[in-house]
Amino acid sequence: MAEHETSFKASVDLMFDRAAATLDLEPGLGDQIKANNNVYMVQFFVKFRDGYRIFRGWRAVHSEHRLPVKGGIRFAPSVNQDDVEALAALMSYKCAIVDVPFGGSKGGLCIDPRDYNEFELERITRRFAQELIKKGYIDPALNVPAPDMGTGAREMAWIVDTYRNLHPEDINAIACVTGKPSSQGGINGRVEATGRGVQYGIQEFFRHPADVKKAGLEGGLAGKSAVVQGLGNVGYHAAKFLQEEDDVKIVGILERDGALVSDTNISVEAVFQYIRENGGVKGFPDATFVEGGIRVLEAECDILIPAAMEGQITLQNAPRIQANVIAEAANGPVTFEADDYLREHGKVIIPDAYLNAGGVTVSYFEWIKNLSHIRFGRLDRRHEAHKGEQIIGAIEEMVGKPVPSHVRDKLTYGSNELDLVRSGLEDTMRVSYQNISEIYNSRDKVPDLRTAAFVIAIEKIAMAYTEMGL
Ligand code: NAD
Repeated sequence: MAEHETSFKASVDLMFDRAAATLDLEPGLGDQIKANNNVYMVQFFVKFRDGYRIFRGWRAVHSEHRLPVKGGIRFAPSVNQDDVEALAALMSYKCAIVDVPFGGSKGGLCIDPRDYNEFELERITRRFAQELIKKGYIDPALNVPAPDMGTGAREMAWIVDTYRNLHPEDINAIACVTGKPSSQGGINGRVEATGRGVQYGIQEFFRHPADVKKAGLEGGLAGKSAVVQGLGNVGYHAAKFLQEEDDVKIVGILERDGALVSDTNISVEAVFQYIRENGGVKGFPDATFVEGGIRVLEAECDILIPAAMEGQITLQNAPRIQANVIAEAANGPVTFEADDYLREHGKVIIPDAYLNAGGVTVSYFEWIKNLSHIRFGRLDRRHEAHKGEQIIGAIEEMVGKPVPSHVRDKLTYGSNELDLVRSGLEDTMRVSYQNISEIYNSRDKVPDLRTAAFVIAIEKIAMAYTEMGL
């Protein structure tokens, strides 16, 4: 990142300030909302064959206007307190934007998971979890983590088991983290939820012709071209769904070891499998490999999807970005200065605080499922199917003809958990975009979708604090 550019945390705060300046907040309220309420830093050691190793991690709690607070746990060598605080703040705003009744939190452990085998990682994760549980930073009522960069369902299973061992009397113990494997109280559709949410968000953007026009584009999503950075959990699912279900052409894929470009469609699934087998994209046969792939962010395309990490689009490369729409699947991929530059040059950014909220939305569904101790659809699935059969019976009686089998199958289908999760997620992403777009298009002082999204978050959190009498 350029030296004169602000850090990730400062960028998030400046974006907050820009939105808060358009509102008439009581003095001091904005500062209270913006600041992290508390941050716990923990240092612990784990004994390996060759001796002790020390680890350092953080869990930041941003806004507690709703409890529990919610936010992922990241395992990466770049983790530091400032970034964890920025990510916790984004979580508060994100939850408010998509109407998920949680406050914001985030955790991180400074570790490169690729340096450890599974057995070692389990010991490290369990030790980190113990430290957080002891201080109430993991608790189904107070603070509920989820996966983020470098963690997934496996780590969440270790964490829930650690919590259960320490609190066997807690009947809601499995609600202490989300993103668990389904055998451990997870929910169908959580693994792909963030990518699926990115897909629904981009779809909804293209249902708003006025917004599409502001980006210098026209028409629907089908046939548009996209470049994606990072084929991890979020990037892989988002790009795969857009390609396979919306007819989006993937013309560039950036990974750690370089990038792939092609004039034709690069198969996301084929590249994903190739990375699994070869550890990177270099050598993939059906596209051109570009060494030092960051330049591919500047490739010609309609939609750029940064889905790897923060600080990828800065003042250094912003002037060369050709994409019309930047769809922020990662957290904080565009710095504050680059954000300004891109807006002034006619680019439209679909902001992270909205676009990658699919994960926390489905986490909310998982948490509710855990507290209610029953899977969604269990009570009403057959009931729904029987209702369909009754309707078919009535229609056939009236018209004296059998209903065609394809119609019968649809009418007698009872929704399962995955159907309900997808429906809830799609509705959340669509309605939230509509709210953001309405503010963007109706308030003179709101220059872009990000400011509109922050306005929604600040108004909701401010109202919660004001009504609580704080
Ligand atoms: P991940 O670890 O599953 O995937 C990250 C991918 O990016 C990996 O494939 C990695 O090889 C690649 N990558 C890393 N550095 C890169 C670089 N410099 N250039 C190109 N590729 C690079 O992580 P994830 O869970 O997919 O998270 C990605 C982003 O999305 C993060 O910003 C995270 O905070 C955000 N996010 C994740 C979730 C979630 O549910 N996992 C939810 C909301 C937001």
